[in-house]
Amino acid sequence: MAAEVKCPWCDAKVVLEAGYFKTQYGEVKEGRCPNCNQLVMTRLGGIPDDIIKKGD
Ligand SMILES: [Zn+2]
Repeated sequence: MAAEVKCPWCDAKVVLEAGYFKTQYGEVKEGRCPNCNQLVMTRLGGIPDDIIKKGD
C-alpha cells in the first residue's frame, strides 16, 4: 500500500506516481506528484528514499 506524502510544491497530500529509469549510475526510482507533476522523490539503487525539499 502506497503511503501518502505531502507534496512540497503544491502542498497536496498525494500518493506519488513511481517511475523507474536507468542511468550510468544504476537504476533510479523517482516519485512524481500526480497533482502538479513535479518531481518529489528520487532514489538511486541502495540509497534510502530522499524527499526533495523545496528551497526558500
Ligand atoms: Zn504537487
